[in-house]
Amino acid sequence: MTDRMPSQKIVIIGGVAGGATAAARIRRLDEHAEIVVLERGKHISFANCGLPYYISGKILHKSKLTLQSPKSFKDRFNIDVRIQSEAVLINREKKLITVSNLASGEVYVESYDKLLIATGAKPNMPTIPASIEDQVFTLRNIPDMDRILRYIDTRRPRSAVIIGSGLIGLEIAESLHAHHIDITLVDRLNQVLPAIDYDVAAEVKQYIEKLGMKVLLSEKVQAVSATENGLTLQLSQSVIDAEMVIFASGVIPESRLASQAMLALNNRGSIIVNKQMQTSDPSIYAVGDAVETTNLVTGEKVFAPLAGPANKQARVAADHICGLTSSYHGVQNSSIVKFFDLVIATTGINEKTANRLGLDYDKMWTYSPSHATYYPGSQMLSIKTIYEKQTGRILGAQVVGFEGVDKRCDILATAIHFGTTAKQLGQLDLCYAPPFSSAKDPVNIAGNAISNVIDGLVKTYHWHQVPSLARDGSVTLLDTRTTEEYQNGHIEGYINIPLDELRSRLSELDNNKPIFVTCQIGLRGYVAARILTQHDFTAYNLSGGYKLYQTIYHDSEVMMPW
Ligand code: FAD
Repeated sequence: MTDRMPSQKIVIIGGVAGGATAAARIRRLDEHAEIVVLERGKHISFANCGLPYYISGKILHKSKLTLQSPKSFKDRFNIDVRIQSEAVLINREKKLITVSNLASGEVYVESYDKLLIATGAKPNMPTIPASIEDQVFTLRNIPDMDRILRYIDTRRPRSAVIIGSGLIGLEIAESLHAHHIDITLVDRLNQVLPAIDYDVAAEVKQYIEKLGMKVLLSEKVQAVSATENGLTLQLSQSVIDAEMVIFASGVIPESRLASQAMLALNNRGSIIVNKQMQTSDPSIYAVGDAVETTNLVTGEKVFAPLAGPANKQARVAADHICGLTSSYHGVQNSSIVKFFDLVIATTGINEKTANRLGLDYDKMWTYSPSHATYYPGSQMLSIKTIYEKQTGRILGAQVVGFEGVDKRCDILATAIHFGTTAKQLGQLDLCYAPPFSSAKDPVNIAGNAISNVIDGLVKTYHWHQVPSLARDGSVTLLDTRTTEEYQNGHIEGYINIPLDELRSRLSELDNNKPIFVTCQIGLRGYVAARILTQHDFTAYNLSGGYKLYQTIYHDSEVMMPW
């Protein structure tokens, strides 16, 4: 080290995803800056995303969760990391921060030239009576995780209620299941996994229930109170008992400091930043879960509390602090979760958003094998693709399956990022050998299926339109699966002509009536619709076929998705 004067003094509040990333990048760009990281917890740069896997026992050693320590940060980056140090006040005029040392009780003041706020978010939960606090949990950091494990070890709970069925709710459910705890998942929405659409979530719900977990939807927690043996939860429509309750019902930005410092916040409490991650005070930057960002597809201002955006924003802020030209443009809400063997991934906008914004969109369901069916181990995956009707531009996608879901969703994320159309998706030159894919990858197939609609080769209809199709003989409802498949279950009112017999039995159909075709997944239905159209019938193919219809109508009460 030299005794050269520091080029600038940068203080970072929060030492995990956004804060630690920014600190390391600043050091790589500016060897002479003085960098101080204030973290109120005992750990820095820990893997929040790994916490559920330590609870389940998949990650065996807790040390794997802590990627850095104050010492390793000092040794590698010459960064002054102070744990158990809470920033309690920002004085913007004098560029001072009041810091409380939570270990010693000492309160002191630290100056800065540039300040970066990376304070993250906090769990969204109601106030819990003190008498039951020890049985109610959230999962945000290592102490939260330790509390959950301690409770499991000492109290051996047999049942748990998880409030919130989002990504973290599902991960927690799996991790508690590993401790032989009966799980009930509660969500205030009429579906699990709020980030995806109702019709995609239907398959996930079935999977959860097959594992023996209970799912209670359209239920809000009204009150939690103690009973002799545990807790009782008063929900909007029912009452349930449990021995532990975990709130995984989303997070809210941790922006108290920014608010006290009169920095501009939006009405949800997120810190407003520009593309260089500067707040309304140009000397103060903010990144991660604490900030508002932009949805790249819609241009809307959104809250995207995920690790990817936090890391990218941190890099941009660090670049700008160090004089590099760099900007952050926004998120497309790409996310993924593995729940036991099922993988669910989403990117871009979902149909709920497209519908809310009144976009001129349509959707396509495609089911494809994860790799060549003749090579062992291939499994079906489903893709729901949302696209702009006029241009064919891909707006969003949701992928569910077992193998290769991440790859397909990431290809679609890249496609959306670059404004790719369905036609271009069909043409993407992707890697292929039998263990990995098919010569036409599921993503190519999604693109081709949409192109067929845009080119006018086929008209589609959707599962939610099926109940309202006339059953009075004015239209023909046609199931083109084999007789055996049809006999095993079909949609009420559909007649059966197997695809391979269709050409020879066209005379049985009235070409004055529109024909609504279905098959198992939409592929044979497409072939049937092509045959019919070229014989002067008006035909529509059911996107996703009987498989999707049956997954959704499996529940006796189907609610419309929007
Ligand atoms: P954080 O990483 O939360 O860091 C904020 C830090 O600031 C905290 O350590 C806090 O103690 C500190 N702090 C707050 N106020 C002060 C103060 N006044 N003074 C000093 N320090 C302060 N995202 C994904 O993309 N994929 C996943 O699989 C995923 N899984 C997750 C699983 C779990 C269980 C959790 C909790 C989160 C998961 N996330 C995931 C979300 C991801 O972890 C967050 O989006 C990311 O950590 C946000 O980074 P951040 O720097 O904004 O906040």
